[in-house]
Amino acid sequence: MLVAETRGTAYERGRQYGAQLAEHLRRRAPARPLRPATAVADDGDAIAGRMLRYLERHEPALPDEMRGLAAGASLPFEAIFHLNVASFVRYVQDFPAGLVVAASAAASASSDTGGCSNVAFVSTERGPLLGKTNDGGAPVPRERQSDTWVLQHTRPDTGPEFFLLAPVGALAGVAGLNAAGFAVGQSAAQVVPGQDGSGVPSNLILRPLLERCATVGEAIDLLHTRDMAGKGLNLMLLDAAGDVRAAEKSARLFGVRAPDDTGTLYFSNHCHTPALSALPPRHDRDNSHRRWAHLQRYFDPSNGNQPRSEATMRAVITTHGEGGICQHGPDMFTSLGLVIAPRERAMWIADGAPCSVPFVEHRLAPTA
Ligand SMILES: [Zn+2]
Repeated sequence: MLVAETRGTAYERGRQYGAQLAEHLRRRAPARPLRPATAVADDGDAIAGRMLRYLERHEPALPDEMRGLAAGASLPFEAIFHLNVASFVRYVQDFPAGLVVAASAAASASSDTGGCSNVAFVSTERGPLLGKTNDGGAPVPRERQSDTWVLQHTRPDTGPEFFLLAPVGALAGVAGLNAAGFAVGQSAAQVVPGQDGSGVPSNLILRPLLERCATVGEAIDLLHTRDMAGKGLNLMLLDAAGDVRAAEKSARLFGVRAPDDTGTLYFSNHCHTPALSALPPRHDRDNSHRRWAHLQRYFDPSNGNQPRSEATMRAVITTHGEGGICQHGPDMFTSLGLVIAPRERAMWIADGAPCSVPFVEHRLAPTA
């Protein structure tokens, strides 16, 4: 796993990341990036341009940090912007207005990694707990695993210190924890068709959440005030005080779910609140439904009520077989496992399939 240690202003943090991981950024830089600033733009450039304008207006620290990244790695801004938004531009193109349900399953076979599972317990011996896996449509080759994920350890000049797990070059990725005791994990979710790109490119929303929120309530307030562009997200939100919610967000649609009466909450890649569950299905719907059914069976009291503990969390995210959360094909492959305890400001990372790779502990000092 790569690590980027940064501090200071948004631009300065970007510059430090770019300098530290320059060779990895240059290897992934596209030969022909999206051109969000061009006057005569094709469809992808136009969507990227609306994303950039929305960020400049609502989250200007993100393009600032991308400019720093470009400077630090000696790459054009467009290359860094492309690494951050291209997969979300593709989602907008794959889900045009008027998309019929039957067509959508095939429409986004090209889409990026998506299948991820999140499980949360409100109360364990370590306080609230998040367990998460990340899945892709192809296995990560053994020789590529160690430079697939970046652990960003960020000390902003304003706001709490935080950890964020992301692909190389992406400012926001799949899960994080801040020193105020707020944690977030995401899964790709159903998509509002007919978007034009005006919004925060999906996964980038994790970064303002970690930079500015100390509680689940603050995170829900922030999600209410932002439009999102690209894929939908299921977001698991936890805080040190034990507030836990699952937020469902795509474009302007927003729904929130609460834990069940055992203090358990989970999701895969489909939605459950009425407005979002009615959206067209994703290409990974069947896999998502199998994992959901597996989690329902796993936590069904009639199958023996599992204690809500760290051991149970590690066990459930390494389950195999029908609907198992740790996936080894044929359609999905797990490349990352996480357990996060926000009250302890602790995160355990398995850099690979969590059944076969040890978890490594990382901790933040709590803010006062
Ligand atoms: Zn496994």
